[in-house]
Amino acid sequence: MSPYSSDPEVVARVTGAVKTYGRQRALDGLELELRRGQWTGMIGPNGAGKTTSMLAIAGLIPLDAGTVEVVGERVTGPRPDRVGWVPQEIALYGHLTGRENLEAFGALHGLSGRELRDQVAWALDWTGLGVRAEDRVATYSGGMQRRLNIACAVLHRPQVLLLDEPTVGVDPQARLRTFAMLQGLRDEGVTLLHSSHELGDIETRCDSLHMIDQGRSIASGTVQELVREVVGGQAVATFEIGGLEHQIAGLERQPGGTWTAHLDDPAVELPGLLSAIQTGGGQIEGLDLHRPGLREAFLQLTGRELRE
Ligand code: ATP
Repeated sequence: MSPYSSDPEVVARVTGAVKTYGRQRALDGLELELRRGQWTGMIGPNGAGKTTSMLAIAGLIPLDAGTVEVVGERVTGPRPDRVGWVPQEIALYGHLTGRENLEAFGALHGLSGRELRDQVAWALDWTGLGVRAEDRVATYSGGMQRRLNIACAVLHRPQVLLLDEPTVGVDPQARLRTFAMLQGLRDEGVTLLHSSHELGDIETRCDSLHMIDQGRSIASGTVQELVREVVGGQAVATFEIGGLEHQIAGLERQPGGTWTAHLDDPAVELPGLLSAIQTGGGQIEGLDLHRPGLREAFLQLTGRELRE
């Protein structure tokens, strides 16, 4: 019996995954769960093992130890009918048109006849590439190629979609378009795993988050849970103050000469603090309000910035 048949909400599970390339340990006991219909972000520094873990979930590489299960079955090889894979590098036929690419990938995934035609029509609409359908893909912009690349991986409607940095090198407008496409898939119940170095994207788009470092899982949960657990939920107000003569309750002097306060609810607590500073003879020359987020949580957990 599948170890997770007891929890139908878990669509994919990686347990104790180890993968070594020569002397390089790419995965070192990775644990990961994808929950049905959730959009999970995966973050970690370069070389953390994000691509390798996706290749393992897609059944495209064998593990040295550990298991991967998708929809209740152990993964022993590729199952593109269940798991769609969008690699970091664009994998399209540049000399073929957008439509021909979709037809080729659809056929590769077992679609034919009416079903193939319908799915190609859906993909052209979904990607907004209908007007360029008959143009050769080599003439598409980078953002268009990325959208088509994603469409080719989901034409046959797999339940799980793995996306390896799907918006790398894409301009802001094209990114929004890609995210709208992914949101649409998620709303249809597709389970997404999306690796990225863009913390802002993960913070705002994903339902949950998985952090990995050196082939190991270091934290997972919703962004709010993770940030609160690791760095606390308080906002930090940093003041530059001239002429302050008295110590003010709640304000701490910092080595650079600034003052900081930790606030649970800045809207409620700031006004009192500002008037206490003025009453104490201080002139507020600068104020920065910052709520620690994923970046700080990552730094705290690993001692490193995400891009080093
Ligand atoms: P990035 O953010 O740079 O894409 P990543 O988190 O996706 O990195 P992986 O590509 O999974 O990391 O690589 C994990 C480690 O395994 C790295 O040290 C990498 O150099 C190594 N590695 C990955 N694939 C191979 C391979 N085919 N041969 C040798 N080493 C590999």
